Amino acid sequence: MSKTIIISNRLPVQLQISNGDITAIPSVGGLATGMKSVHSGGDSLWIGWSGLTDEEIPDVLAPKIDKALAEHGSSKVRLTKEEVNGFYFGFSNRTIWPLFHYFLEYSEFELSYWETYKTVNQKFADAILEKAGEDDTIWVHDYQLMLVPQMVREKRPNISIGFFLHIPFPSYEIFRTLPWRREILQGLLGSDLIGFHTYDYERHFLSSVRRLLGLEVSFNDIYLDDRVIKVDSFPMGIDYKKFHEAAHEHAQRNESQKSELQKRLDTHKKSAPDAKFFLSIDRLDYSKGIANRLKAFEYFLNKYPEYKEKVRLIILAVPSRSNVPQYKLLKKEIDELVGRINGELSTVSWTPIWYFYRSMPFENLIDLYTSCDIAWLTPIRDGMNLVAKEYIATRTDKTGVLILSEMAGSANEMNESLLINPNNFEQIADTLYQAINMPKKEQQERNGILQKRLERYNVEKWANDFMTSLVNQKEKEDVYV
Ligand code: UDP
Repeated sequence: MSKTIIISNRLPVQLQISNGDITAIPSVGGLATGMKSVHSGGDSLWIGWSGLTDEEIPDVLAPKIDKALAEHGSSKVRLTKEEVNGFYFGFSNRTIWPLFHYFLEYSEFELSYWETYKTVNQKFADAILEKAGEDDTIWVHDYQLMLVPQMVREKRPNISIGFFLHIPFPSYEIFRTLPWRREILQGLLGSDLIGFHTYDYERHFLSSVRRLLGLEVSFNDIYLDDRVIKVDSFPMGIDYKKFHEAAHEHAQRNESQKSELQKRLDTHKKSAPDAKFFLSIDRLDYSKGIANRLKAFEYFLNKYPEYKEKVRLIILAVPSRSNVPQYKLLKKEIDELVGRINGELSTVSWTPIWYFYRSMPFENLIDLYTSCDIAWLTPIRDGMNLVAKEYIATRTDKTGVLILSEMAGSANEMNESLLINPNNFEQIADTLYQAINMPKKEQQERNGILQKRLERYNVEKWANDFMTSLVNQKEKEDVYV
């Protein structure tokens, strides 16, 4: 029987070692949830890194880990600390991530990172080759593994391979600065289907393929030797039902069932019923525009001083990649900005910014989504931005305003939100004003349309559409050959 093999940098399970025992806890992240329909039953396997380096896994525990992972349909790729540093913190997060998010000045073109990236990609490819039969379908995920498709194709010319990029693909002018640009394209072209979140990323990729490899491209088909590779956009959705139902359940809670955070939010709401809560949730990443948002908030309060003491910005910044220098610097910048703005504007009864630097459990995310009047997301560049979709999904009475950067992939599907340019403080200040004063009816009309779309194009549909397209492409290619 043929099976589906999913490959991503991290496995969808977290390993915990205590007293010589291993527990594997399934992750609840977007990808793991989205792949549920693909990764179920006995006919699928997920290959990835466990999150523990070889040095962290005592030899005696290795078989136990394999067994625990196998129970979750998973198999691990072993990586040393040095490999993780060069491949993940190095090439993936110090070269590709900044470059693909248009932060050219942060991109480090370091040969040793590239060498490790190749070695580790080969390890992933070997792990696939060890497990894959000729009729299996392979789905490779994201920018850490862009060489894997071609590495597998070399050994299994007829196997079906799909690749999905979860971050933006930059314009040719940016991409061409990468010293290993041809190798990256050739690596991806080992696939039968290459998926992106948006049509723009797809277009940028095709343009790079045409200009750097000189290949024939017709609409979204690339012709390479005796193969046809399809490129398409598949905007990733969310588990709409999970967020919507959690919000319904949240609304039914009595006082004793509420979280501490919710009680605090309620107290503040009661003390100033007309005050508005602005919410932003992001990983602490320079692509998310958190510093700009803080400055824009200050700009807004200076332009519309009547809203002092009437609005509050709640920022949840989730720690991320904190051993990469730019992230450390950014953390310092944000800490200082929050301190300065709060120091300058606070009054005895009002702190303009509530800043949380941590990750929160799902229950608290629902508290925040459902309690905040305005979600304000200003990435400078973002592959998709699922937080925008999650906010809308939790608004069970359809009120609430979403202000979203037009640089986020999700802006393409969320035209009914208030779209802004994250660098235009004047526009942002006026949009915040508009959001605060938007009539309830208009909020509900906008969100009603958004909710219908999000419910329909949920994450399960995303995964199924990709798989269907991959199967169809393989059939088409077999006819072409
Ligand atoms: N999230 C989380 N815990 C937190 C804050 C956020 O699990 O404390 C989740 C959030 O629900 C969303 C994801 O993190 O699903 C962030 O996804 P997004 O696409 O917005 O940004 P990314 O971090 O992938 O760049």
